Amino acid sequence: MPLSLLKYGLRRTYPVTGDIAATPDLKPHYDVGIIGGGGHGLACAHYLSSRHGIGSVAVLEKGYLAGGNTARNTTTIRSNYITPQSIAFYKEGVELYGEMAQELDFNVMFSQRGQLTLAHNDSTMRSFHLRAETGKFAGIRAEVVDAGDVRRLCPGLNMDEGGSLEIVGGLWHADGGTARHDAVAWGYAAQAARRGVEIHQRTEVLAIETAGGKATAVVTNRGRIACGQVLIACGGMNYDMGLKAGIEIPIRCYPLQAMVTQPVKPWLHTLVSSVSLHTYLVQSSRGEVVIGGGSDPYQLYATRSTLDMKEQLAAGAVHLFPFIGNLKILRQWAGITDMTPDYSPIMGASPLSNLWLDCGWGTWGFKATPVAGKRLAECIATGRVPDIIKPFALDRFASFSLVNEMGATAASH
Ligand SMILES: Cc1cc2nc3c(=O)[nH]c(=O)nc-3n(C[C@H](O)[C@H](O)[C@H](O)COP(=O)(O)OP(=O)(O)OC[C@H]3O[C@@H](n4cnc5c(N)ncnc54)[C@H](O)[C@@H]3O)c2cc1C
Repeated sequence: MPLSLLKYGLRRTYPVTGDIAATPDLKPHYDVGIIGGGGHGLACAHYLSSRHGIGSVAVLEKGYLAGGNTARNTTTIRSNYITPQSIAFYKEGVELYGEMAQELDFNVMFSQRGQLTLAHNDSTMRSFHLRAETGKFAGIRAEVVDAGDVRRLCPGLNMDEGGSLEIVGGLWHADGGTARHDAVAWGYAAQAARRGVEIHQRTEVLAIETAGGKATAVVTNRGRIACGQVLIACGGMNYDMGLKAGIEIPIRCYPLQAMVTQPVKPWLHTLVSSVSLHTYLVQSSRGEVVIGGGSDPYQLYATRSTLDMKEQLAAGAVHLFPFIGNLKILRQWAGITDMTPDYSPIMGASPLSNLWLDCGWGTWGFKATPVAGKRLAECIATGRVPDIIKPFALDRFASFSLVNEMGATAASH
């Protein structure tokens, strides 16, 4: 053991400074109040302070940092969506993940190992051709592969030859990957805090005061603060927070569950998902097999997990990889996902001139954490909505300009 480490261990006091300060007292006024200390709120705080020199920012989090959906997600990162608008947006997100460790000086364990979506019939293959061509045109790596390629990309997969779920091919997305969710959130928090952003945990926003077409203040369980601008980034509580500002955001909330097995030696080197089985798997850096699927079929504000879903996910996973049937399930959990009618987010302006929306992230928002934070910081700092997020405006529902991604979010988020 090096002597310095021994000396350090024997000290009575430790010269260590935390990444973020303990929750400070609330000031009466901030230039920007961010409601929600998940990945998105923290990323926005980082970009406001690092790119736009705005440090008078309070991130208001009712629980602990990034304890909402950011903590519960299965970390699929990809850009192989259906519409050109979505592909352009998520492509920027994937690129920002590639730079994130440098940007934050924090190891976020971004692992760009590729994502394979399986096709079990010809009609799925036809839709994959469309997605691959649209993706290539938009500059991402997406290609249709046959059964032989699937075998090579993912040894050990049950191809079910001659069976009802025979794998006939897939959509290979070499840009896809994963990152460590809590590292992403803490990396943004640490950088923002370094530039003067205040992070207020256990600070619940109870009301938003409005006057003259603007949000004037937010009322919290720790006091009232006036804000020059306000961002709503509340994950599963976005609909309710909108109502506090008098805005009805078209969101319905559904629980989404996932689970992990005990850790095993690394064998699964890609992200794998099956549309027909509504199941996807990824092996974490710890060796645990993370298994997820579709949302619960009913609206609910609850984070309990169910035996029903455990059975469904386990059946899908064991069908794809029969040899994992003996693994023990270590944890199962759920988050409340804020689903929009077209399975795309709602970003940008609201009916109040200084209140901005970062909502409708449903089952797909982790991958967008850096790009949403960056682009919403731009909105707040300049008052202008960048072109790349204009298609995701709230008013698209009034003008029927939907960005329909239902077919691309169903199985693998
Ligand atoms: C099981 C599961 C798997 C998922 N898998 C993926 C995936 O593989 N890939 C992907 O891209 N996405 C995935 N998602 C979706 C993703 O997790 C979310 O879209 C994303 O984390 C949203 O981040 P956020 O910062 O907007 O919300 P959150 O992380 O939920 O943060 C919002 C914060 O707001 C706080 N808050 C709420 N109300 C108040 C209030 N009144 N006052 C103050 N604070 C408040 C909450 O406590 C919370 O911490 C998954 C979600 C779940 C549940």
